[in-house]
Parts: sequence; structure tokens; C-alpha cells
Amino acid sequence: MTHRNGPNPLMIQLFCWCLLGLCLPPWALAAPPAVALPQGIDLDLQRIHTAALQSPRGMARLTELCDTIGHRLAGSVALEQAVLWAVAGLHADGQTNVRAEPVQVRAWKRGNESLQMLQPRSMPLTMIGLGNSSGTGPQGITAQLLVVSDEADLQAHAAEAKGKIVLFDNAMAPWSREQGSGYGKAVRFRSGGRVLAGKLGAVAVLVRSVTAHSLNTPHTGATQDGPEVPAIAAAAVTVEHAQMLHRLAALGPVRLHLTMDAHFDADRNSANVLAEIQGYEHPEEIVVIGGHLDSWDVGQGAHDDGAGVVHAMEALRIIRQLGLKPRRTIRVVLWTNEENGLAGARAYALAHAHELANTVAAIESDAGGFSPVGLGIEVTETVRDGQGLAVAQLQRLLNLIAIPQFSEVNPGQAGADTSPLLKTGVPGLELLTDGAHYFDYHHTAADTVDKVDPQQLQRGIDALASVAYVLAQWPGRLSRP
Ligand SMILES: [Zn+2]
Repeated sequence: MTHRNGPNPLMIQLFCWCLLGLCLPPWALAAPPAVALPQGIDLDLQRIHTAALQSPRGMARLTELCDTIGHRLAGSVALEQAVLWAVAGLHADGQTNVRAEPVQVRAWKRGNESLQMLQPRSMPLTMIGLGNSSGTGPQGITAQLLVVSDEADLQAHAAEAKGKIVLFDNAMAPWSREQGSGYGKAVRFRSGGRVLAGKLGAVAVLVRSVTAHSLNTPHTGATQDGPEVPAIAAAAVTVEHAQMLHRLAALGPVRLHLTMDAHFDADRNSANVLAEIQGYEHPEEIVVIGGHLDSWDVGQGAHDDGAGVVHAMEALRIIRQLGLKPRRTIRVVLWTNEENGLAGARAYALAHAHELANTVAAIESDAGGFSPVGLGIEVTETVRDGQGLAVAQLQRLLNLIAIPQFSEVNPGQAGADTSPLLKTGVPGLELLTDGAHYFDYHHTAADTVDKVDPQQLQRGIDALASVAYVLAQWPGRLSRP
């Protein structure tokens, strides 16, 4: 995933209303009266819960994806294999309209890379190049280090940046139930550091890995690229090495040697994978559920986002296997190239533009295979009134679903792949999970299948299947901005 926010003002308002003893924010009071759900849905949901919590299939699927295919960066052979794997799996589940819709993706390649401290002592540093970064050329770059904490610190030392390797040593706040993760705030140096330092004449950029907990694990992720971005190399160092470099630079000159082969190969063909259960009453109205098939080129992409892929595939399998007949169509979309391009998200929105007015909701699972806690929904200033209604409606739906501990509606969060849909007015939602450890593994070699708890994965499948089914059966639709 690339998109994760901390609390926003709306969330704080919600919290304050709760303190005042009001269960729902004021706009909910203005919402139309709750519509009763169709008879028998309680029994259907109970059957979904039981099937999801008893089936070992999800964990088996995730293990197969992670161990036999492995990580899946856009442009890699492994991602092509993952597309075939998903198509075969959805066919085997008996789904309808299974297809791979072509998407052209850029093919960034990491190549060999290393970072060496030369002064004040010789030492290899633990690093990982940032996705979409330029390379250094075969000779590498040797330069003095400038360490800054943030934008203001960089501006204060702007005159010293020319010819230096600039390190952004900005700490990410740890996750808490009240505040969420500090990722949304800290990630700006990973994405924008090349622009900030490059325009001051820096020859390369380093960032402190975007995590609150480190065992000397480097975290990759996308850095901005494009014609306006200086073509300099960018890499992450570990939290431990960022702090050490910061301390050493305060004592005297630090010199580093950085080598990165990073480059783009020719564009490659990839695909979004789709499958459906068609609605019996309103086949033209669609509830989209999905995750992204691609991952970074380290680890196995187990939490990010193999878990989301499996959540969606298994949710659809369980609904079909139970013989449930949704009134609206439930469609799985497994997007390609979320991590370093969003080409799959854009291609889906374009290819399905004619269906977007009838897309009831698009729910992405891209927050790992941890226990689900609720749903995120994107709320922007311009659409807040319309979406505010949707927030209240969603809260009402979640109350009906009755999955223990699955009750939060968190405005300001929706998946990256659903963002092009949101712009056209589709309610974009994201499955929220317990985020205590997500960013320990995120975008690292440690994001492997052993980090996923089978029961927590099952609870996510249960949650996604239940939400999709209720939205497909509900007489009303979520408000659109
Ligand atoms: Zn992801």
C-alpha cells in the first residue's frame, strides 16, 4: 500500500461527539431512517461467519502465492505468473466472467546496490533502493553527508546541500489505537525527498526507513519520478543506521559511497484480474472488492498485499460455495502495479467508466492480514456533505454485521487502487486492520507468509465477505458525493 493517513479533523470530531455521549455525529441525525435489511440476512451472515472462520483455504492460498511465486514487482515474470495463478484459482472456484484485463506497466529494476561509509570509519550500511529511483552509474557516487530532520532543517542548511548526499532522518510515530500509524506523515520524505534535496543540488538522497520499529530492516517504497524530478539516486537506510549517521555527522565530516544499478527496462504487459457473482435482481449494480496482486521485489508481499488478494478471492468463493444469491453483482478486482505506478487502478477506472455510476462501493483490502477493525472511507473537503451521509450509513451497516471488534468507520482512509474511482463519485472504502505491526514488515524482506496469523486472515475474509454481501443485499445504496 502507498496510502495511509493518521487521524484527520473529522475523526477527531467523531471522537469528541462520542465523548459527549452522542453515538452518531450530527449529520447522521439528518440521514434518512434506517432501512430494514432483507429477511433472512442474519442467517446468511451467520453462515458466512462460520464458513470463513472454519476454512483453511485462505491460508493455503496465501502460502501457495508467497512460496511458489514469491514477490511480484510490476514488470517481473513473477507478477505474470501471479496473474495466471489468480485466473486459474478463480476459475477453479467456479466464478463467472473470470478475466485478465491487459494493463501496460513500467518495469523498474533494482539491480545491485550498496552503501559504504568511508569516513570517519569504514563500514557497510544496510540500505535498500527506493522504487523508481535513478541509478548512480557504475562508478557510484562518493560524497559528504548532510543530515536533516525535515523540510525546515533542509532550508536552514540549503547552502550546504550542493554536491552532498542528503539524509532525511525523520522518525515515524508508533501506531496507537487513538492516533493510527504515523506512516502518512513520515512517508513524505521517501516520496518527495528527491525533489526537495535534488533542487538544492544534492547528488543523492537517503531516507530513514518509514517504520516505527526496526531490527535493522531497510524498507523500500516508491519515490516520485517524472520529468520534473531530479534524476538522482534515492535509497532508504535502516532506523539504526540513520540515527548513527546523524550522531556521527554532528561530530565531524561523514563520507559515503553509494552504488545503485536502478533503471527502467522497456514497459511490460500486465493485467488486472476480475471475477464475479452476478446479481440476480440488479446485475448492473456492482460491489467491487479487491486487493493488489503486485508487491515490492523483496520478501513475499504476504501482508502487502497477498493478504488482500486472498481476502477478496476467498470472500467471493465462500459466498458462492454457500449458494447465496446476491441481489447486486459482487466483483473481485485484483489490481496490478499499485506499488510503483497505479497503472492497474487507472486502467480499471478507464475500462469500466460506463459502470462507475452503478458501482455501489469499491472496497480495497490493503492493510495486511491482521484482525479487521472496521472500514475506512475517504472524505475530502469538497465532498464531505455527501460522504458524511455515507459514513453514517456505513456505521449502521457495520452495526448490523455483528462481527466482534469490527465496528470503526474511519473517514480519511481508502485504498490507493480505489482512488481513481472515488474521483468519479464511487464510495471508496478500505478494510481497516489492527495496525500495531503492519509497518514493522511493510515493504521489507520480512513481509513473508509466516508473519500472517491464519485466524486473523480468516477474520479478514469474514469481514470482507460480510460487508460485500450486505452492500449487495441492502435495499438502499450509499450516498454519493
Ligand atoms: Zn499495498
